[in-house]
Amino acid sequence: MKLNQENLSQLPRDIMRPTYDRRQLTAGIVHVGVGGFHRSHEAFYTDELLQSSDASRWGICGVGLRAADRRMASILKEQDYLYSVIVKHPDGHRETRVIGSIVDYLMGCDDPAAVIDRMADAKTKIVSLTITEGGYNVDPDTGDFDRSNPDALHDVENPSNPKLVFGYLTAALKKRRQAGLPAFTVQSCDNILHNGDLTKQMLLSFARMQDSELADWIESEVCFPNAMVDRITPVTTDADIEYLQSEFKLVDNWPVACEPFRQWVVEDRFSNGRPKWQDVGVQFVADVTPYEKMKLRLLNAGHSVLGILGAIHGYQTIDECMRDDLFVTYLRQFFDHEVTPVLDPVPGIDLNEYKRTLVERFGNPSIGDQLSRICLESSSKLPVFLIPTIRENLSRGAGLEHAALVIAAWCYYSDKHADRHGNALEVTDGLKNDLQKAAKATSEDVLSFVKFKPVFGELATDERFTAIYAKMIDRLYRNPDVSEQMREIIDL
Ligand code: NAD
Repeated sequence: MKLNQENLSQLPRDIMRPTYDRRQLTAGIVHVGVGGFHRSHEAFYTDELLQSSDASRWGICGVGLRAADRRMASILKEQDYLYSVIVKHPDGHRETRVIGSIVDYLMGCDDPAAVIDRMADAKTKIVSLTITEGGYNVDPDTGDFDRSNPDALHDVENPSNPKLVFGYLTAALKKRRQAGLPAFTVQSCDNILHNGDLTKQMLLSFARMQDSELADWIESEVCFPNAMVDRITPVTTDADIEYLQSEFKLVDNWPVACEPFRQWVVEDRFSNGRPKWQDVGVQFVADVTPYEKMKLRLLNAGHSVLGILGAIHGYQTIDECMRDDLFVTYLRQFFDHEVTPVLDPVPGIDLNEYKRTLVERFGNPSIGDQLSRICLESSSKLPVFLIPTIRENLSRGAGLEHAALVIAAWCYYSDKHADRHGNALEVTDGLKNDLQKAAKATSEDVLSFVKFKPVFGELATDERFTAIYAKMIDRLYRNPDVSEQMREIIDL
């Protein structure tokens, strides 16, 4: 049976499905970047809210800006924008839920005017984003908006036919202002420290290139709440699609699989109203900083620790690493000795319990989170998740070996694109060539990789760090069995 609106009532009883009237929904939210995570997180919370109360103003219109999103557009359209979420519990138990909160989908690269008009529509109250860390067009040297990006220059010249999300947002906000409509909230759901503040900084920089008066209006009228978002959502596999077919005879061409845990902590600053997401477990706070720091420095950095060391070791998935006691102990020590001391108190959270749950979540054998996904775009991730922890430990004179080995291993990984056995590793990174060039020069200058300033800043000028790092590099290049160095660090 194909997944679509007509067949909803015939789904097997074990599948939860929307019981609200989807025809009554209007899209108060426009979401850019409908990938796995949006569908397991914001759209999932919103579906629960629609299920439990009358929130019919808060349907979601998905938006894809890039040609690569056409597949999502056509699959969702064929399925009346319905899709299944398979929640995989650590004990192997699964729950399947069909989500109904997405009610439309528009493709920016095919019809930019339709996207701009939809964002500018009075019914749109929030434009939310999961466009990945790389989607914010940050100049890695300065931390400002990258004005040299040809797409940004194109968007300044062609306001009605933009390519970057910032071109779309600016064009839509301009229309709203002209029409006397209130601004929408721009809500980032990407894994970035102060994601709302960064979005604001980038949007204002872009808008100023186009129209400084409009930029002033945006600055005073648009809210950009910071948020911490969490739910491990690996790439959908063929096995997920086959599971629905064999278990329920349900044909869903792009379901999502994820863990049961989920968390969303949001600053309660919205320009134009918001759903009562607190009724379905979203936490609204005045300041999200301690929550996001805890999550990025423990969960995301922990993923990178396992991802990079595990990839070189020859492992494929996070749970495979967690079946190795050496990796578990290493991770736990990294959390306890290097991260916890640099975190601020987090209201209402017991850090020990949080770390214990992380170890349990990472070990969930049903998730099969690929290390290749974790290592994607490491050059955008490590400067946010891991390198600040090293810097803070340097300035307080504390140990940093666990994190330093990850940097040394990342150099090896960027240089060889292979694990310790010589098996090729697929590297996907916007700075892949620069990283490889810097890593390859290690044979002439042991510090060449960490001298790559767009990622490491001034790290290579710190003598304590470079002494530790150089020793690790020397040993890793002589013997890429990273587990030997991990063992020694644990025993320190
Ligand atoms: P995905 O690959 O399934 O989807 C990414 C979406 O972003 C796609 O629609 C893609 O077209 C769009 N996109 C990418 N670059 C863009 C750009 N420059 N401009 C506009 N759109 C762009 O990935 P996902 O798993 O949904 O993750 C997306 C983001 O969500 C992550 O980068 C992360 O910041 C955040 N997140 C993911 C998880 C997770 O476990 N997957 C957990 C927490 C947060």
